[in-house]
Amino acid sequence: MKLLVPVKRVIDFNLRPRVKPDGSGIDLSNVKMSMNPFDEIAVEEAVRLKEKGKASEVVVVSIGEAKAQETLRTALAMGADRAIHVLCDAEVQPLAVAKLLKAIVEQEQPGLVILGKQAIDDDSNQTGQMLAGLLGWAQGTFASKLELDGDWLNVTREVDGGLETVSLKAPAIITADLRINEPRYATLPNIIKAKSKPMAQKTAADYGVDVSARLKTLKVEEPAQRTAGVKVADVDQLLAKLNALGVMQ
Ligand code: AMP
Repeated sequence: MKLLVPVKRVIDFNLRPRVKPDGSGIDLSNVKMSMNPFDEIAVEEAVRLKEKGKASEVVVVSIGEAKAQETLRTALAMGADRAIHVLCDAEVQPLAVAKLLKAIVEQEQPGLVILGKQAIDDDSNQTGQMLAGLLGWAQGTFASKLELDGDWLNVTREVDGGLETVSLKAPAIITADLRINEPRYATLPNIIKAKSKPMAQKTAADYGVDVSARLKTLKVEEPAQRTAGVKVADVDQLLAKLNALGVMQ
């Protein structure tokens, strides 16, 4: 079974995003960018399936500016076999990403697409679901465990009340949650090996997809500053304060 893993280049998760002074978005100038953490988890899951002999090939795809190739090289260094880069200089919104992925799925014919559950820059949590809808495929979102048994997949999902296990028939869409695995670090020899792995260069026009924006960001604001806390001398004072706030009733 061939696996397709879409990976997005996003602001590094350790950084605190700075809002542009005009409120039009996040300032990405001179900011460290990395692979979306949930996509690292998706790559790890795909590579593990290949290592267990349950997958034949892992293809990674990224849609974005030229530097998205660095993110794809990281995925190749983690163990993916080849990459597809779809060059798009402007922001590509989830519906356009899903349409491009649909076109790539139709060409590549993977048995499974493993995405991250959400990209940490826009927090959309839409692409996997839209892709499943466009393809008419089954979907197992927020997967915290994935078991493959021939053409059938058991997906344990993290839902509000606990864990839910669903059984899906491939081809299917999976979106990876945090606890499914802990991604590996690429070793130096694998980083060097990744440089010679194949990377196809494409554009949205190659797939006949219109990637123009359907949503307009009106305003981005910093979260409200937290007000400073107060130190209490002892438990009695703490209880008195909580009582005064009505928290203890
Ligand atoms: P989102 O719906 O934007 O929160 O993204 C969910 C998932 O879709 C991500 O974790 C990626 O696996 C995939 N994805 C979103 N945008 C892109 C992109 N530009 N290139 C490749 N994959 C993407």
